[in-house]
Amino acid sequence: MTRDPAWLTDELDELKREHLFRSRRVVEPVAPGHSRVNGQELVDFSANDYLGLARDPRLAKAAEGAPAGAGASPLVSGRSPQYCRLEESLAAFEQTEAALLFPSGFAANLGTITALIGPDDAVFSDHRNHASLIDGCRLCRAQLHIYHHNSLDQLGRQLAETADARRRLIITDGLFSMDGSIAPLAQLSDLAEDFDAMLLVDEAHATGTLGQSGRGSCELLGVDQHVTLRIGTLSKAVGAAGGFVAGSRALIDYLWHHARTQVFSTAIPPATCAAAALGLQLIDEEPQRRHHLAQLGSRLRQHLTGLQLETSSEDGPIVPVILGSASAAVEASLLLAQHGHFVPAIRPPSVPAGTARLRISLSAAHTDNDIDRLVQALELVSAREVTTHE
Ligand SMILES: *Cc1c(COP(=O)(O)O)cnc(C)c1O
Repeated sequence: MTRDPAWLTDELDELKREHLFRSRRVVEPVAPGHSRVNGQELVDFSANDYLGLARDPRLAKAAEGAPAGAGASPLVSGRSPQYCRLEESLAAFEQTEAALLFPSGFAANLGTITALIGPDDAVFSDHRNHASLIDGCRLCRAQLHIYHHNSLDQLGRQLAETADARRRLIITDGLFSMDGSIAPLAQLSDLAEDFDAMLLVDEAHATGTLGQSGRGSCELLGVDQHVTLRIGTLSKAVGAAGGFVAGSRALIDYLWHHARTQVFSTAIPPATCAAAALGLQLIDEEPQRRHHLAQLGSRLRQHLTGLQLETSSEDGPIVPVILGSASAAVEASLLLAQHGHFVPAIRPPSVPAGTARLRISLSAAHTDNDIDRLVQALELVSAREVTTHE
């Protein structure tokens, strides 16, 4: 056996001391919206399976019999008939000229940002953007400007100061995953237009959940014809796996040649493509799923306003409960588990220090009763917060 260097155990000990050590759980599906977590059956408020499609047997059936592996990257020979059909379904769903697939949403962000801009360019990134967007910004070597969360003033100043950049790209999450807030996309697209910059919106949490037909935050705010490109994932509401970019034919042709995470990675397997295509179709055919999800969100938010807990008031399936310290978040999560609910504690570095929280992810698989029971348990968290702050 090899010997671990001393720093490695020191680092792990430090994580434990700071309540930041993450245990590994085994999670098995038992019923829609319910999981067995390390052997204990809980109502599952942890997943990004917003429409309950990831566990829908129809998706498993759609994948059945199709090859489990693609065997090559899409440019070589990995572009199967299922892959082509999925590209076409995505472009139709997104109402764009074309769409391009990536192995994951993470890969889509890295590959796209690094293909679009380089050292002579400038990139503008919301402070709370997802890790994959942040890493894309780091890797592309463009001049990096981070603006405060949703701060149009600061972004406007940064754009005004970078007129000499060759290309400019503004990057934002549509629906922010850690606090459930929605980006001011109309104003962002106006700024992009005024300064002749590109605008990239990451719809990872919004595809299938927001907008009249489920196209996401851009549809909700009426800007889908005004952004340069939208990035999404097939792994959340769509219920399968993989990432995608939706945009113009020219943009997709360019990325097909230049996005390295797509060119140099094996294509999404045909079985996964078949499942994802059905997931998209069901988003179209079963709008009641997202309507039910929205109604659960209002129900939960309405209940929470009565409790003394800090949360967010925006639409969407993510409801944070901000508790402050990592230990408070972990204790609250344990308390909820004792009452039958799986609500993960989100700690630094996923969120800024001092803003550790519970993150409640709703799913169309939940019922009104699931929400009401969760609220009863949250009342206990609220009561405990009040006593510890006294
Ligand atoms: C989950 C997520 C991704 C990554 O998508 P995967 O398909 O899971 O790799 C990208 N961006 C945001 C905002 C996400 O929440």
